[in-house]
Amino acid sequence: MTATADANSAAGVLYVVATPIGNLEDISARALRILKEVSLIAAEDTRHSSRLLQHFGISTPLAACHDHNERDEGRFLERLLAGGDVALISDAGTPLISDPGFHLVRQVRAAGIRVVPIPGACALIAALSAAGLPSDRFAFEGFLPAKVAGRRARLEALREESRTLLFYEAPHRLLDSLRDMADVFGEARPAVLGRELTKTFETLQGLPLGELVRWVKADSNQQRGECVLVVAGWQAPASEDALDAGALRILDLLLAELPLKRAAAVAAEITGVRKNLLYQAALERKA
Ligand code: SAM
Repeated sequence: MTATADANSAAGVLYVVATPIGNLEDISARALRILKEVSLIAAEDTRHSSRLLQHFGISTPLAACHDHNERDEGRFLERLLAGGDVALISDAGTPLISDPGFHLVRQVRAAGIRVVPIPGACALIAALSAAGLPSDRFAFEGFLPAKVAGRRARLEALREESRTLLFYEAPHRLLDSLRDMADVFGEARPAVLGRELTKTFETLQGLPLGELVRWVKADSNQQRGECVLVVAGWQAPASEDALDAGALRILDLLLAELPLKRAAAVAAEITGVRKNLLYQAALERKA
């Protein structure tokens, strides 16, 4: 616990509770207990969430929490300062992940009140966990800009991003976004479309971007429902990959002293990099 949190040890706790992204069985036992025990639930859409709570027989009062609405935030802060526990939920999945809650969490933490995550479903993590693309490092980009120019500019900025990329997309923009991705990242870039995850018509289709465009275009069903796009990161061409800065430095030093072919051969012996890669690089450097 931080020093500021200690300052408010009499205050309640704000629980940030993940709810399902489709399949109601995905709610955790802990989430259900917390939602029953707190004095108030702050929800993105109270009508939507009341159906979820009803399903689980939970009668805790609900109050709307719109992102960055000071009146809402003040109300929850008051409750917490008075010692009441509050749970924050969104319409689906993990609050704050392309969903409201950031301002509330920031304010509550700034007031020295404890914030506790109750983890669970999150569409991007579900998609990444089943996509079969590198998952050791990834970048979540949320929703791309709706307008073409903004979307393409964003994609251009990501063209050489080597981490696996994750995007949320609205179904009516899926095809346009996929086309732009194929254009900017190249048709051969591997990608996976995760659609309606955890629901009846769950789809996880992995294809190179160009083929994915054609596949989605050919089947209008794929342009419905909720979707996550997982796109492989940029990979340096093999020659650039093998020739790191150290190898190139050695090559440059040798080129200053030896004929090109000999310099490439000696550099290959020193670095262990293939001779023809170094020969090619030496030709380019001389040119
Ligand atoms: N907070 C949520 C989470 O933790 O994933 C995300 C909320 S964001 C407003 C909604 C977007 O998440 C959808 O447009 C879609 O891109 C993605 N999404 C949510 N549920 C999904 C599902 N079952 N399958 C695929 N994508 C989903």
